[in-house]
Amino acid sequence: MVYEDRRLIHIDLDAFFASVEELLNPGIAGQPIIVGGGPGRRGVVASASYPARAYGVRSAMPTAQALRLCTQAILIPGDPERYSEISDQVMALLSKYTPLMEKVSIDEAFLDITACERLWGPAEEIARTIQRRVKEEVGLPSSLGVAANKLLAKMASEERKPGGLVVVPPGQEAVFLAPLPVERLWGVGPATAQRLRALGVEAIGELARLPLHLLEKEFGALGRVLQRRAWGRADSLLTPHREPKSMGHEHTFARDLTTLREVQRYLLDLCERVGRRLRGHRMRGRTITVKLRHSDFTTLTRSATLPRPTDLDQVIYDQAVQILRRECRPGMRIRLVGVSISNLTPRLPSQLDLFDQREAKLSRLHRAVDEIQERYGDEALQQASLQGPTNLCGIR
Ligand SMILES: [Mg+2]
Repeated sequence: MVYEDRRLIHIDLDAFFASVEELLNPGIAGQPIIVGGGPGRRGVVASASYPARAYGVRSAMPTAQALRLCTQAILIPGDPERYSEISDQVMALLSKYTPLMEKVSIDEAFLDITACERLWGPAEEIARTIQRRVKEEVGLPSSLGVAANKLLAKMASEERKPGGLVVVPPGQEAVFLAPLPVERLWGVGPATAQRLRALGVEAIGELARLPLHLLEKEFGALGRVLQRRAWGRADSLLTPHREPKSMGHEHTFARDLTTLREVQRYLLDLCERVGRRLRGHRMRGRTITVKLRHSDFTTLTRSATLPRPTDLDQVIYDQAVQILRRECRPGMRIRLVGVSISNLTPRLPSQLDLFDQREAKLSRLHRAVDEIQERYGDEALQQASLQGPTNLCGIR
């Protein structure tokens, strides 16, 4: 963890997809707009304009439900390529201010401007200029936060959406956080919030002052992390974005495998690793490649391309198994199996319009699993999947 004094900006484009649609069609500006899949296709909301949100419409909600809440909403299927292009314009503009930039997703980025203040003026002024230029040159509204680390910069940008600009002055981190409800803190989900409430903690300031031993008793190591965050201390190190060309994993066996069933089991594990890596990088891929090495060291690689990009273990696995079944022969002895995915594109966040509710459900489940693994290590869930031929997700 790096706690040194830095100035970071977090920028988040407001209702990004819906705002782009307004930009392309100014006639609908200011109206309730939903970008998402049609209710007939069991579609879900990918993005909703603020007037639509006023009716209770939220991202990831089934479109049918959203249209019941807001009957006059304008439903737009969405144009991912267009969104990607416009995102690139915004990122190009941002990158003029600092080389230290981390693109978090299609509509979100961190900028480290610590070394730029001498060149461009105080952080707040830089943030204001960026907000104005994104509006004037690209045409999109955004919210920005300025603070000493990522946690605070992001929380600050969320504070006054849409069109907000919130600065947390150096030294005021804990003061800024104190009145906010605990759910706002990174790492505090509904379950953690409920347990905190049981300890009498409603606001982040109360979490900061709770005796550490009580927190550690309730949450273990996580207790200390939460308290540190409640004081506004967090990482300020950005990860500059580099996009990999492919991602893969392979496994060499201690003894040759001779049955399809055995190979399939390892394939599942590898596909889960590939899926997790994709999601960790917020990428999706279309081309699945399976590599098989026989006991005589002849190696075979076979690829297949999906109709649309994915980051789901199950989809990768289904394709990989098809390839495997085609290539397996009786009497084979396999010493290595590998899976990789290429043809990568950045994942458009909450872009649920592209898939149906089954995939949306899978996607949420994957994120939950990834989170558990991040917190408790690889072993926690992997074992379950290796025990049988079905995926741990169990959704078919
Ligand atoms: Mg956004």
